Amino acid sequence: MNNTIEVLKFGGTSVGSKESIKQTCDIVSALETQAVVVVSAFCGITNKLSDICRLLTNQRYEKALLLFSEIFDIHFEMIESLDLPQCKPFLQEVYDYQMQLVDAVKILNEISAKTMDAILSCGELMSSKIIAEYYNCNVGNTIWLDSRKIIATNSEYTDAEVDYGKSKILCESVFPKIYSQSTKFVVCGGFIGADNEGFTTTIGRGGSDHSAAVIAMGIKADVLKVYTDVTGIKTTDPKLIPSAITIESLSYDEAFELAESGAKVLHPNTILPALNADIPVCVLNTNEPFKPGTAIITNSARSGSASAIAIKDTLINISLNLHKDDNSILSLTYKIIADYNIKVEALLYTKNNFTITLQKNLFVNELVELLERFGELSITDSVTALTIVGEKMGENNDIISNLFALFDSHNIKAIKHYINKNSIKIIVPTETSISILQLLHNEIVLKNVNFE
Ligand code: ASP
Ligand code: MG
Repeated sequence: MNNTIEVLKFGGTSVGSKESIKQTCDIVSALETQAVVVVSAFCGITNKLSDICRLLTNQRYEKALLLFSEIFDIHFEMIESLDLPQCKPFLQEVYDYQMQLVDAVKILNEISAKTMDAILSCGELMSSKIIAEYYNCNVGNTIWLDSRKIIATNSEYTDAEVDYGKSKILCESVFPKIYSQSTKFVVCGGFIGADNEGFTTTIGRGGSDHSAAVIAMGIKADVLKVYTDVTGIKTTDPKLIPSAITIESLSYDEAFELAESGAKVLHPNTILPALNADIPVCVLNTNEPFKPGTAIITNSARSGSASAIAIKDTLINISLNLHKDDNSILSLTYKIIADYNIKVEALLYTKNNFTITLQKNLFVNELVELLERFGELSITDSVTALTIVGEKMGENNDIISNLFALFDSHNIKAIKHYINKNSIKIIVPTETSISILQLLHNEIVLKNVNFE
């Protein structure tokens, strides 16, 4: 495609009501470029659909049917309030198909993952169709595209892997034909695809970001804009620290570290196909679309300074002075972690000391029993990890020394700290975590931002 083209992604909360759909329409109608708009299911619908799958698994058919009527009522009411009676036959068709699926599940008395995907996918099918119709009536030149025509996956139903090569070929053949017919906007659902045999698949919860990135790669978009309900990625959780500000740009590594450390930001893995194709990715706010938001880029020019702080609580810290240097502590610990699916926040092993910070879990005792054999345990329940993230920050001795000087002057004693290339993680008692976060955010993050 020669013209400029953008991919926009609107998540569930951006398409949760008549008003929000109108807002997305205003954003799209202001575009001077062509665009592919990828949408999630309406807010809360995928949760309801997975509840239905769970009910069907437990033969609770009546309840499942009740929930289905709730879902369809929401969609029928939506087309009524958006004045789109032409969507009725489509919704009816989807409804009839879902009822056939329920009948089949009843007859067989079992539900497969393949059937679950046929159910889960209907949220995005309906939302995308309705939104396409709405744009077409209000902006014009918009068509709906069934995303199963362009997103190719394997057959691991409910968590299918996207075949990037095949999806790219499909995008390259499908989109030019569409755009040659004076179409300016294409709307399609995220989250869903089709396997080799053409059966419907879904690509994992929150998968619409991933769908959008695959399409951006497939059509060589000029930009991928991911719209959420906050302005970009913030320097820390604004609900805890109101002075948090939007970060202008963030490297992939920083975004990765933040997402892994508890920040509720888009996981950069989902947008890798776009980043790998050198397509800039911007995280924007549907409610304030003209604010710049945050750009996620492959390489950050900034280096050695702190960008943001993530916070994660409900952790427990186990530290022990080792009786002797015994390497088997590592293999045995990792075996328990794997067997019981324990989520580890950080782990440090030196000659005399072994420290592990992990998510509280029913099976932590298994680990405690093992570790007792190796030395004296000191366990701190209810700890919080504050992870200061910044490209190559762990290599910047000035920052590290400033940080510890700050701790000294405020008499703060961290239970443990872990220094990594792109982050410094500090484990503190949960009851002191917010005041420490406030201090670090002011002194380490905001001051750096202001210097730029
Ligand atoms: N609707 C799906 C979900 O809620 C996909 C998405 O919104 O990204 O997980
Ligand atoms: Mg959703």
